[in-house]
Amino acid sequence: MSEIAKLGFCLPGSLVTRSSRCGSLTCACHSDPGRLHGPYLSWTRKVDGKTVTRNLSPDQVDRYRAWFDNAKRLRQLVGELEELSVSVAAEAEGWNSPH
Ligand SMILES: [Zn+2]
Repeated sequence: MSEIAKLGFCLPGSLVTRSSRCGSLTCACHSDPGRLHGPYLSWTRKVDGKTVTRNLSPDQVDRYRAWFDNAKRLRQLVGELEELSVSVAAEAEGWNSPH
């Protein structure tokens, strides 16, 4: 719990690497799969059930990578805390013993 309190900002969603085709039909990216644009790092997350994607510049990735790492660590710690809570409750209530 003290580790959670020390985490700082946490960005939801995930950081993924993508290559893409542009809007120009005459561009090489449309004829040759090896010449796609990118790779770009993009950040995707769900907002009200819809996937929202933002392409990030290398600068932005540097700026926010720690926030993504924090979110990952937070999910890990919450998982541990939940597991621990379940076993403490089960112990206290005798839910582990067979009846
Ligand atoms: Zn292109």
